[in-house]
Amino acid sequence: MVLKKSPSSLSSASRPDAVPTMSGAEVVERLDHLYPRIKTPLSHRDTFQLLIAVVLSAQTTDASVNRVVPALFARYPTSAAMAGAKVRSLEKFVKSTGFYHVKARRIRDISRMIVRDFSGRVPDTMEDLLTLPGVGRKTANIVLSAGFDQIEGIAVDTHVFRLSRRIGLTDRNTPEKVEQDLMKITPRKDWARLTVLLILHGRTVCFARNPECEKCVLSDGCLYYAATRKNSRIRQ
Ligand code: SF4
Repeated sequence: MVLKKSPSSLSSASRPDAVPTMSGAEVVERLDHLYPRIKTPLSHRDTFQLLIAVVLSAQTTDASVNRVVPALFARYPTSAAMAGAKVRSLEKFVKSTGFYHVKARRIRDISRMIVRDFSGRVPDTMEDLLTLPGVGRKTANIVLSAGFDQIEGIAVDTHVFRLSRRIGLTDRNTPEKVEQDLMKITPRKDWARLTVLLILHGRTVCFARNPECEKCVLSDGCLYYAATRKNSRIRQ
């Protein structure tokens, strides 16, 4: 279903009247057969390890996280074990994921709070997850979806943010507002899959620099593609 096309331009700031160029369901339908049915590419054995892996994935790749977590979880497999860890020790394990001073302290503090306030178990509600240090809606959405099969929202990471704006699903400028727009144009049953598909598409086709539009199955409904084609015609 193609909804309505808006004037094309590369910048959302210059297209204030932008409207969704596609529904979330259509994006899912077009991409679904191209990518594997996974909940998250992050290695984990339980919801605690999932939460820690998601926290470590900030500002780095899932592959980078997956390289460090086997040793980290072998040494500190549970919230109780990690709550008692020294930050210095945690830093050594997570150093290669970047921002390791902050991340080491954060995973220690999260573990302590889980032990103190949640009897050692990762909470399974958005409200409780958001009380953990440094945990925002993106992290909470991934943990609820991949760890508890609960769909409360749409996790908006850097790929979901970029692709949603490029395609023309939204013109909002914060992850929270983008999430609200995506929830409005996507059936709830597709929320988790939309996140995974946009992430995988952002990694393999719609790169931040030089997206490979010519081989993209979304191109005929994509605002960015329409704008770049129009601009190249004008230059000819
Ligand atoms: S057409 Fe280009 S910009 Fe649009 S989603 Fe596909 S790769 Fe990304």
